[in-house]
Amino acid sequence: MKGQEKYAEGRTKNLYTANQGDQLLMEFTDTLPIQTGKKSTLKGKGAINSEISSFLFGYLQSYNVPTHYIKKADDRTLVVKKLSMIPIEVLIWNTATGSLSKRLGISDGTTLETPVLEFYLKDEKLKNPMINDYHAYALGICDRSDMNAIIRIGTKVNAVLRSYFQRNGVVLVSFTLEFGKSGNQVMLADEISPDTFVVWPLEEEGKPDKKEYQITPDKAKQIYPKLKDVLLK
Ligand code: ADP
Repeated sequence: MKGQEKYAEGRTKNLYTANQGDQLLMEFTDTLPIQTGKKSTLKGKGAINSEISSFLFGYLQSYNVPTHYIKKADDRTLVVKKLSMIPIEVLIWNTATGSLSKRLGISDGTTLETPVLEFYLKDEKLKNPMINDYHAYALGICDRSDMNAIIRIGTKVNAVLRSYFQRNGVVLVSFTLEFGKSGNQVMLADEISPDTFVVWPLEEEGKPDKKEYQITPDKAKQIYPKLKDVLLK
């Protein structure tokens, strides 16, 4: 962003200071989240993720979910509330697959009776280890009331998004969320986009094609626009 001071640089987004001190500009880059060793990009990917995020944050706000989203700044940038981030990545599962299936021996594709929330410490040096609420308190990352808010908001976000996705013909298998605080208030932050969720096509009968929306270097060019069409129709 020309003329703006960089506040933070992440893997797929840059944050810049905004004219108002309590706000930030969140710019979505074209970098793909796939870890192939080298950095790969896809032209237009940042704009798609920005648009999907902005739509979903607005949708969640209509259900009174507190989020950092304020408005769009341009086609790949959102104006958000500057928060003090809680360094936890919350992974929410609705369907058992991948690591959850392996770890607990639940057969792949099983719809869970109730959603499962997992917490991961955002610390690349430690390889983002899984933690529980007690670890979070012992590390001084958040207190019980913050954790209760994270669970309450996370569960509500899941219920709202899950039925929205279902109405659009996809199963919300799992997704990650990040939270931050403004004063004492815990709010949903970061992004909700194809980089942070896993979806499968909804199948009434038979097995869903789990690869239909899986982002790989070869298919990324088709998948991002396809997901935008599915979710924003
Ligand atoms: P990574 O998650 O690998 O750091 P990102 O590209 O997603 O990569 O970086 C975005 C960064 O911005 C993350 O560190 C995230 O915690 C932070 N962030 C997201 N929303 C806010 C916000 N409202 N205020 C301050 N920081 C935020």
